Amino acid sequence: MSTHFDVIVIGSGPAGYVCAIKCAQLGMATAVIEQAVDAKGQPELGGTCLNVGCIPSKALLDSSHRYAEATLHMAEHGISVSEVSLNIADMMARKQKIVSQLTGGVSGLLKHNGVEVITGDATLGASRQVEVTGDDAQKLIYTADNVVLAAGSEPIDIPPAPVDGDRIVDSTGALCFDAVPERLGVIGAGVIGLELGSVWARLGSEVVVLEAMDTFLPNMDEQIAKDAGKIFTKQGLDIRLGARMTGSEVSGSGVTVAYSHDGADHSETFDKLIVAVGRRPRTNKLFSADSGVSVDERGFVFVNEYCATEAPGVWAIGDIVRGPMLAHKGSEEGVMVAERIHGKAAQLNYEVVPSIIYTHPEVAAVGKTEQELRLEGAQIKVGTFPFAAIGRAQASGETDGLVKIIADADSDQILGAHVVGPSAADLVQQIVIAMEMAASTEDLQLMVFGHPTMSEAVHEAALAVDGRAIHMVNRPKR
Ligand code: FAD
Ligand code: NAD
Repeated sequence: MSTHFDVIVIGSGPAGYVCAIKCAQLGMATAVIEQAVDAKGQPELGGTCLNVGCIPSKALLDSSHRYAEATLHMAEHGISVSEVSLNIADMMARKQKIVSQLTGGVSGLLKHNGVEVITGDATLGASRQVEVTGDDAQKLIYTADNVVLAAGSEPIDIPPAPVDGDRIVDSTGALCFDAVPERLGVIGAGVIGLELGSVWARLGSEVVVLEAMDTFLPNMDEQIAKDAGKIFTKQGLDIRLGARMTGSEVSGSGVTVAYSHDGADHSETFDKLIVAVGRRPRTNKLFSADSGVSVDERGFVFVNEYCATEAPGVWAIGDIVRGPMLAHKGSEEGVMVAERIHGKAAQLNYEVVPSIIYTHPEVAAVGKTEQELRLEGAQIKVGTFPFAAIGRAQASGETDGLVKIIADADSDQILGAHVVGPSAADLVQQIVIAMEMAASTEDLQLMVFGHPTMSEAVHEAALAVDGRAIHMVNRPKR
């Protein structure tokens, strides 16, 4: 086996494995090093995303959505369903099967592209030397012309709620409960809290979400966050803003959480508690002091806009660098870095990275929010359109939410789009394409949108930017 490669990638998550495949496709001798191993001692490929993140959470979101449809929403279609029952073990087995199929797929792709997979814990030293410690504690040294760090992230823990994997869990534990908790506490009303809180609420848990901030989804467009908050509350999520947790006590019957809220001290007992207060980059043992790589005060590796670190030939991508912790952002950084190593002037347009919360309905966004733009003093025009006025949304009984498009007042160029509602992720993707091509709202206004589709809300919101919506009374702009 070779010990020198053109490129070594550390970490096989969506950033690392995509980078490795792209490097190999460009003809470079590539290895990917992964520390996680499965029960059979084989490398567990795919990182957080495939194993304990995007994919298993979406599998459970889909299963729980079907259960909620069967129990709550069939009657309005004139369909009566009796004796709907839940088999959590089967639901979990389905989720695990999907994970195995996809991680197996990654393994096959790496093999097919000739990427060498090395198992072990990697540390980058000086001069792009990588020390790999295997399961047997044996250390091997590999070298490369280029090293790409893609070690990902891990859940943040907080002292008042130490994760014990039983009563108090992080997102990984919340993906494998063996029964539906009667009362579920969630710390953090962020993406994970809302997605996994929704899963268990749909399956029957009484869910209380304790959020430290006074504002709900502060990074989202205010109007969209407000609408989303109302929808989630209607669905049964009890979201308490400005709730500061002070301690927890685990007993045989559950976990009691102490917190302050509205100027008073409170306590609540739950069967399970999910801690979802953010993630931190996994960089503490990734490189030695003489590697030339440095991190900021939160542990993110310093990189330039092309993901090059301060050390020559060393790159960093995905959750360990600045920007949103999103699988697709990391993957595209992986492709960009592979192309740059190969000598191309590749770049990534960070302005158009979409973000999505996969609740039902979804919440999705691209570009800047109205409050950000107003703060910058930008001259903007805004168009919104409610799903309630869309024929397809009515036909599907999916009338909650709206599409909002923001454009520059002079040039008409689209600066942002924000959606809460059915198929929000796919609708925002249409705007990603438009923004990448520097489209104006007039471009969207002149396009033909199929009828009846949810996409018509995008068309109407683009028209509404200039007060020209058809299926809504256009109010004079102030
Ligand atoms: P990771 O996926 O974390 O992979 C890093 C890999 O590196 C791991 O396999 C790790 O074992 C390995 N590694 C670390 N250190 C070393 C070392 N020293 N030596 C060798 N190997 C090492 N994002 C989305 O875009 N959409 C979603 O729907 C979504 N849902 C999510 C749901 C949940 C519950 C969670 C927790 C996250 C979700 N995310 C989602 C975020 C997404 O999973 C991450 O942004 C993404 O996985 C980051 O990719 P990465 O390759 O940078 O790191
Ligand atoms: P987050 O940053 O989205 O939300 C964390 C929330 O916890 C915030 O609202 C924060 O104010 C709150 N919080 C922090 N400390 C607290 C405390 N002590 N008490 C109460 N609340 C507290 O983080 P997350 O939900 O843990 O997700 C981590 C990352 O994973 C996200 O950044 C996201 O990018 C990624 N992710 C993405 C998706 C997706 O794309 N659909 C899904 C899941 C996770």
